[in-house]
Amino acid sequence: MAKLFTCGPVQMYPSTATIRKNGFIHFRTTEYGDMVKKVLKKLSLLLGNHVENSLIYLAASGTASMEATIENCVADQDKCLVINGGGFGKRFCELLEYHNKSYESVDIKWNETLTEEHLKPYENKGYSILFVNIHETTSGQLYNKKLLSDFAKRNNMYFIVDAISSFLADEYDMEKYGIDLSIISSQKGLCCSPGMSLVSFSKRMIEKIQSNSLSASKYFDYKDYLLNISRGQTPYTPPVLVMYEIQDMLNIIENEGGLYSRLANIKRKAEYFREKAKKIGLKIPEYPISNMLTPVIFDNINAYEIIQILKNKYQIYVNPCGGELATKLLRVSHIGNTSLDDIDNLLEKMQLAIKEVEYKELNI
Ligand SMILES: *Cc1c(COP(=O)(O)O)cnc(C)c1O
Repeated sequence: MAKLFTCGPVQMYPSTATIRKNGFIHFRTTEYGDMVKKVLKKLSLLLGNHVENSLIYLAASGTASMEATIENCVADQDKCLVINGGGFGKRFCELLEYHNKSYESVDIKWNETLTEEHLKPYENKGYSILFVNIHETTSGQLYNKKLLSDFAKRNNMYFIVDAISSFLADEYDMEKYGIDLSIISSQKGLCCSPGMSLVSFSKRMIEKIQSNSLSASKYFDYKDYLLNISRGQTPYTPPVLVMYEIQDMLNIIENEGGLYSRLANIKRKAEYFREKAKKIGLKIPEYPISNMLTPVIFDNINAYEIIQILKNKYQIYVNPCGGELATKLLRVSHIGNTSLDDIDNLLEKMQLAIKEVEYKELNI
């Protein structure tokens, strides 16, 4: 059986993966709306947001929520600042550029840790919105939430966080960190099918959205979603089956002992993998890493070839990296339905794959 150590979609839990066999009720019913309201309320609490009816969901992957957020929340007079430490930071920049919004990016180089120093040049410069992918999934770096939160507060900025690859893997709390908007997605920490992303708002962010005259996209006009969500409804047909999967996953998390047990279990898997990986000589970055995944650095052999062997020979899936890191890095995720035994097996097969690539490169 194939095992997924991928970043998303991930190895799903059996009950979640089969829930759609049970069928579903039509979405334009109070029964469906009531179910959605319960699910969204629980999710809001997991996000640390107590504002009523402040979580909406879109029939779209996470990037659509990144783009829709720019369309709905960034006014012409706003000056945006993006923490850009990899592929997803770059995506925020590209989307802002595409929509002709004013922005600057704080560029974090590969292998560099985001610190106070990076932010200093941007203090008191009139920036009004801070954008960050709190876990930059392409490098694995988990940025310091307190550092960014304090910076946003000091500078009177709205704080917008793509938490897609951090939610349900690392501690997260919108109210504690003064986060005004969070984006999450069905196929990452929630371990569900792809197809749904969700956006959670602070009270003042809802007010900002309501005061805007227009959204560039009619389909993704947040005002419509906010209006409908008080009844658990959406303006257009929602990904109903993914909603059932999320309901199932929330039960799994509750049965595991709730949010903190869940986070502790993911952390245990991440630490288990990292300790054992170091013991067998694998190299892991020095910067702070999310518990969602572990990047493994290969200086001398081609990481991409290892990924191919794991997949083709052992049906084990790990994530490659794009761009210049494609041959240097692979990423192992810890959020899906994988056990410590699965990790042992992965490490054993990784060692075999490394040997195979080494022999090949030495022409033995
Ligand atoms: C996965 C991910 C996304 C969403 O990507 P999609 O392919 O649009 O689902 C966005 N941001 C981060 C940080 C991610 O890890």
